Amino acid sequence: AGRLLEVEDLRVEFRTRDGVAKVINGVTYHVDAGETLAVLGESGSGKSVTAQTIMGILDTPPGFVTGGQIRFHGRDMLKMSAEERRKIRGAGIAMVFQDSLSALNPVFNVGFQIGEQFRIRQGLSRQEAKKRAVEMLDLVKIPNAKQRVTEFPHQFSGGMRQRVMIAMSLALDPEVLIADEPTTALDVTVQAQIMDLLAELQRERQMGMILITHDLGVVADVADRIAVMYAGRIVEQADVHELYANPAHPYTIGLLNSIPRIDEKGQELRTIKGLPPNLMRIPTGCPFHPRCPMAQQVCQEKVPPLLQLGASRASACHFAEELVNRV
Ligand code: SF4
Ligand code: MG
Repeated sequence: AGRLLEVEDLRVEFRTRDGVAKVINGVTYHVDAGETLAVLGESGSGKSVTAQTIMGILDTPPGFVTGGQIRFHGRDMLKMSAEERRKIRGAGIAMVFQDSLSALNPVFNVGFQIGEQFRIRQGLSRQEAKKRAVEMLDLVKIPNAKQRVTEFPHQFSGGMRQRVMIAMSLALDPEVLIADEPTTALDVTVQAQIMDLLAELQRERQMGMILITHDLGVVADVADRIAVMYAGRIVEQADVHELYANPAHPYTIGLLNSIPRIDEKGQELRTIKGLPPNLMRIPTGCPFHPRCPMAQQVCQEKVPPLLQLGASRASACHFAEELVNRV
């Protein structure tokens, strides 16, 4: 059987008045049914833009796909008609956004918004659609679903609103769910509850899930594999346990070192010095070299290819083999 969703050598640039920003520079990853891929990186690393390109909601212009493929069940979505892509959106691949308040429409009740998909895509009556919306609220464990279905987004807490978003995204029973920083706006306790809910739904429905996050702390229990992004590239991919036990890229090592410790609750440690690069002027060679504690001369001159280090892991560092073989 072929892969469920594969992104291959994807390239995206934004053409602005100030110049061309190379936002995605050859991203390759895949997700299969029943597994969760976490895509990890700082803001501006291209993880959200990759997702938006998969969903066909990239702002065009200024965003342009300049190369690569996005295959769903083996077929390149970038070559499909707008109509074909619309059919995949929601029913094949759905997305949960970070900010539920701006993603939901304030003037319609949540039942109407969830039910919209059943009415438009499945031709259900208003009454039937509302019934299905109640079932969806039950599915995401919102208490008193029958009453709450007639309430408006502002009447829900942040966590409950995010559950509504998840209900909406699952309405058409997608094969792939992309969750883009789904818990960022929530407090820590609620974050854990939402992450548990997503993990449970992913397992029950055997969906492929792409979990986009800047927080390595949240992915340990949820993800099967991790793809680490930097400056629009994948710099390391590995099974989650391998990546934690033995990271093979200096950027991943930096991220692992910056997980806040319990006694430093709320304080984000910045152990990776410097800032992500300006995507209009990506450094020569390895784009991480200005920030890398291991950088050598070669790092300024040659782009390190994503080197396969084993069945399930790869790293884009000139010293990947030394790193993975160290004790
Ligand atoms: Fe650091 Fe060089 Fe490896 Fe880039 S290639 S991550 S600069 S050691
Ligand atoms: Mg983002």
